[in-house]
Amino acid sequence: MLEQKPILIRSGTLVTMNPRREVLEADLLIAGGRITQIAKSISPRGDEEIIEAKGRWVIPGLIQAHTHLCQALFRGQADDMLLLDWLKKRIWPLEAAHSPESLRRSAQVGLLEMQLSGTTSILDMGTIHHSHILFEEAERSGMRYWGGKCLMDLKGSSGLLYQERGESLKESEDLIKTWHGKSERLSYAIAPRFAVSCSEKLLKEVVALQHKHSVLVHTHASESLEEIALIRKRTGKTNVDYLQSLGLLGPQTVIVHGVHLTAKELRAMVKTQTPLVHCPSSNLKLASGIAPIEHYRQQGLVLGLGSDGAPCNNSMDPFIEMRLAALIQKPKFGPQALPARYALEMATLGGAQLLGRSHDLGSLEEGKMADVVVVDRSHPSVATVECPYSALVYSCLGRDVEHVFIGGQAVVLDKTHQVYNQQQVIAEAQESLTQLRRRAFTQ
Ligand SMILES: [Zn+2]
Repeated sequence: MLEQKPILIRSGTLVTMNPRREVLEADLLIAGGRITQIAKSISPRGDEEIIEAKGRWVIPGLIQAHTHLCQALFRGQADDMLLLDWLKKRIWPLEAAHSPESLRRSAQVGLLEMQLSGTTSILDMGTIHHSHILFEEAERSGMRYWGGKCLMDLKGSSGLLYQERGESLKESEDLIKTWHGKSERLSYAIAPRFAVSCSEKLLKEVVALQHKHSVLVHTHASESLEEIALIRKRTGKTNVDYLQSLGLLGPQTVIVHGVHLTAKELRAMVKTQTPLVHCPSSNLKLASGIAPIEHYRQQGLVLGLGSDGAPCNNSMDPFIEMRLAALIQKPKFGPQALPARYALEMATLGGAQLLGRSHDLGSLEEGKMADVVVVDRSHPSVATVECPYSALVYSCLGRDVEHVFIGGQAVVLDKTHQVYNQQQVIAEAQESLTQLRRRAFTQ
């Protein structure tokens, strides 16, 4: 990558999320991909790009801790269904019908949407084939990316996405060797889809592969009661309990959903520092349930926030997810549960911790990576709100994001993506979707 010019973001209101949670009227200097200085007033040296941020919030880049770029093209193709039907009748046939081209266009549309709305890091679950394309597009877009191909080796419960265990593990390891750490922004995460579709042997070998390469494991668990019943019938254990028995719990295993954790499972996750990704929209839309996140938080669980794939949400706007995460805890735990500031913590510091990157992501502090988002405050729904946490969580939307920097690279400027041509990406995605649907459902 070409050496980037230093960037001086001037006169913004910095919602730092630093240990003291300071909100500062200050300048912020970016050089060499990192935040090098935060001060009341920084004199330009003359070689910087100047970004005027007066009257705007400047926040840490938002971390999307669970998504499926491969499904971005399926938005609106699978509404109002229960999880297992949703997967078997719509999502898996569509994933199986992906060509390299349709997968690329799906990734582009997802990355475009997420970056325009302030997302700077994602943890992504791929599909079975063509996984290198997701890394190629992540690299091209400038996204800070953790991802990996999906593993599904139980024939009866994997539909068209079944892949033999040895082959899927070999492909995973090849992808790790090619992509993990290829650049500072690309990391691999081994992705057994969920225990329903994975053999015990596969899951044990996932643990071995994880230890060999020291990479994340990323899996769904305890999402719906139907899924939990299937695991109990097969193994005699509840879902996370089963994963623990295979040695999967730990700080490097990211569990997604955890809507129906037992007290024992919650204790085990806290004890082993296994993080959980909360996906409130997805859990509501698929009628999976409302995860008692306020309770999990009080017990000390590491928590991040995810939108999940586009067809179970159907938006990947992190502001919607923060708002919903805060709101849905209140009927059960009271109005003070999951306050706005904590919702923002989940989408910044929580995500950073979950990805093992607390030391250099998740807050605006000198020395950390320059993943920085500037949020416009001129919309009538935001303009008069003084408390930044209230504004950002309850009033803002992705539409308010003005500039996005990832590792100091300007990915979005003035609400315009700097890599993708938005009209072209959308037109090509539309064309690919028409062909993809034909391949998936008319053969
Ligand atoms: Zn998911």
